[in-house]
Amino acid sequence: MKERTKEKKELFSSFFNGDTTVTNKVKYTVLQWGAAAIHFILIFIFASVKVYSMVAFNIASTLCYILCGKLVKNERYILFYYITFIEICLHSYTATILVGWAPGFPLYIIGIMPVIFYMHFSLDESASLYESLLIGLCCLLTFVVCKVISYRIDPIYTLSETASTCIYIFNTFCTFFILLFFSLFFLREIQASKSYLREQNARLDKIAGIDSLTGLYNRRSMDKLLNNAMNSGKVFSVIICDIDDFKKVNDTYGHNSGDEVLRRVSDTIVSVLREHDFVCRWGGEEILILAGGTPLSGASLVAERIRSHIAEMEISTEEGAINCTITAGAAESTEACTVTEIIGLADSRLYSGKKTGKNKVVCE
Ligand code: GH3
Ligand code: MG
Ligand code: MG
Repeated sequence: MKERTKEKKELFSSFFNGDTTVTNKVKYTVLQWGAAAIHFILIFIFASVKVYSMVAFNIASTLCYILCGKLVKNERYILFYYITFIEICLHSYTATILVGWAPGFPLYIIGIMPVIFYMHFSLDESASLYESLLIGLCCLLTFVVCKVISYRIDPIYTLSETASTCIYIFNTFCTFFILLFFSLFFLREIQASKSYLREQNARLDKIAGIDSLTGLYNRRSMDKLLNNAMNSGKVFSVIICDIDDFKKVNDTYGHNSGDEVLRRVSDTIVSVLREHDFVCRWGGEEILILAGGTPLSGASLVAERIRSHIAEMEISTEEGAINCTITAGAAESTEACTVTEIIGLADSRLYSGKKTGKNKVVCE
């Protein structure tokens, strides 16, 4: 018993936190018990004005909604939705024929119309607009037919004006609360799907800016970071590292081992750098570092530290232990006017390092 109460509490609190997976269960449970309660009260209201056929109708409706609990529990919402729609229409017709228009039973049709639209779309995302329009027209038709009935036929029971007004007020309140309640649900669901979309966009944006093999930024993100650094006007350096004879690594140990080498070299570079330096996989086995606030002298030290770490390290792969080296070229932001020129400068220094023996850092 305690467990069930706890379960229910959790269900309702997750609804108010905007958890969309539980909202269906909560909203249809509330609708089902709300409808049962309204009809239960109507039993006494009709009994007090001695309209016993409506008492019988409302006993049947109350039982029907209590039994609908089974449908809600089994998540058979569509069937529940049709039963609700038919019951409200039948109740409006019957009440209008028996007690006339004045007590305002057809008000429920207006109240239920947006609910029916909402349920229709939230239960079936592929639902066509025409189906909803048809449902809307059915509601309109029921409302108009009730009005016509009230004009053409005198009600079988004549209620006193006070009784009519009291029932009218009761019906208005119920209709108002049905609308209020579903507007709240609607709002919560819009908020929940909006924040879900925001989270997904942020996640996708992050994935789109990351290289899947190394976990480093990719060129797309680095382009943005480089432009930001350039626009900030603060000094920064760019270091381009290239694994020496990487083709040979692939040819000798296989592509998978080559990938492992790339990953380990990337991890090592990240571990050597400060947190606010940015590292990206610039091309195949080329890694570009953006060292913010660092002049060329500092970049030279950083690059040398990376080079020596990698040269000393042994990378174990399935095909055996691999030793590798890197060559790096560095340039400072003040040496050129554009990002392309700075990278060009670092690249040409890297090239000269490759030409003059590899496993070195070139800064001039
Ligand atoms: P150098 O010392 O002049 O840089 O020689 P290199 O062999 O490293 O240079 P080259 O540009 O000739 O070869 C780079 C190789 O890197 C060729 C390509 O197959 C390999 N490569 C590029 N991307 C990847 C990758 O994601 N995984 C693996 N395993 N190899 C890659
Ligand atoms: Mg290379
Ligand atoms: Mg290369």
